[in-house]
Amino acid sequence: MKKRILLLAGGQSGEHEVSLSSARSVLKALPQDVFEVTPLVISKEGRWLESGASRLALEAGHAETGGDLVLSGAQRANDFDVVFPLLHGPMGEDGTVQGLLTLAGLPFVGSGVLGSAVSMDKVMAKSVLAAHGVPQVAYRLVLRGEWRQTPEAVVAQARELGFPLFVKPANLGSSVGISKARSEEELTPALDLAFSLDRRVILEAMTSGKPRELEVGVLGNDAPTASVVGELRFGADFYDYHTKYTEGEATMHIPAPVPRAVSERIRELALTAFKALDCAGLARVDFFYVEATGELYLNEVNTMPGFTTTSMYPKLWEASGLGYAELVTRLVELALEAR
Ligand code: ATP
Ligand code: MG
Ligand code: MG
Ligand code: MG
Repeated sequence: MKKRILLLAGGQSGEHEVSLSSARSVLKALPQDVFEVTPLVISKEGRWLESGASRLALEAGHAETGGDLVLSGAQRANDFDVVFPLLHGPMGEDGTVQGLLTLAGLPFVGSGVLGSAVSMDKVMAKSVLAAHGVPQVAYRLVLRGEWRQTPEAVVAQARELGFPLFVKPANLGSSVGISKARSEEELTPALDLAFSLDRRVILEAMTSGKPRELEVGVLGNDAPTASVVGELRFGADFYDYHTKYTEGEATMHIPAPVPRAVSERIRELALTAFKALDCAGLARVDFFYVEATGELYLNEVNTMPGFTTTSMYPKLWEASGLGYAELVTRLVELALEAR
């Protein structure tokens, strides 16, 4: 029997287009004799498109409007064995869609409500990981109301961390809304931008100098395993949206040329984080490594990482002996496992 997969893509976040390109890869790469994959695109307004409109949106690369309200759209999911919510960012990767699917009794790929929500919020994730002894950069949480009412107190917190520092919306991805503030003057536009996208903003101390960026894939439920470690290299000052999605701006090196002790430590920390955050199915865990000082920090855990055939997560597993189609097969099996 073919497994019937409902592939959810698009969604309301700033990563709508990224999600659609991952979905195109999944559709193209999966063997038709094993899987019957039906794409369902969620428009930027959060409505669920019919199958014809979904196919058109996939080709177009975006869906601004149209479709059914969530609950009537979601009803169609009943005809499938498993849902693959290939959605990034808020209203997709953050536990909201996972809650809907859980209530509907539909098995789905990836983390549940708790793991998704905690991992998505950079501040919440850092608090949990700190309690598990995972090394991280120093950070502060700032709320929109604090920035509006007591900006001088916010500036004082930034000074404690020192410049340059990173300013990020707490719940986003693809570097959307992220700035590197090099001075107090650059702090104001950085905070205004981040607060235009989220009510919670994180200030993060920068590593000592530009770090090396190492990433590892985790796969499994209660007995997860870690892939080989990969490295991203780029000329840009930091891994911003343009660098992430412009062909040729960044290169992947798998396995990462780092001492064995470093890659082993990374794999161990990734599994600790996966467990601590209650992740399931898959996660891509990202690290900063500064060779000169030996600093190794966990940056973040992405519970629905980019999933095109050339994305880091599938590439890491390919290098670990699991091809793209086998990887999706495994994810579907993990979704169907009782949990
Ligand atoms: P993703 O698309 O992986 O979900 P994101 O939007 O969640 O990314 P981050 O990974 O937090 O964003 O940050 C984006 C990039 O900014 C990092 O890959 C790195 O290049 C740079 N960066 C972020 N925080 C720091 C830091 N504290 N020190 C040095 N560089 C940083
Ligand atoms: Mg992220
Ligand atoms: Mg992300
Ligand atoms: Mg990142």
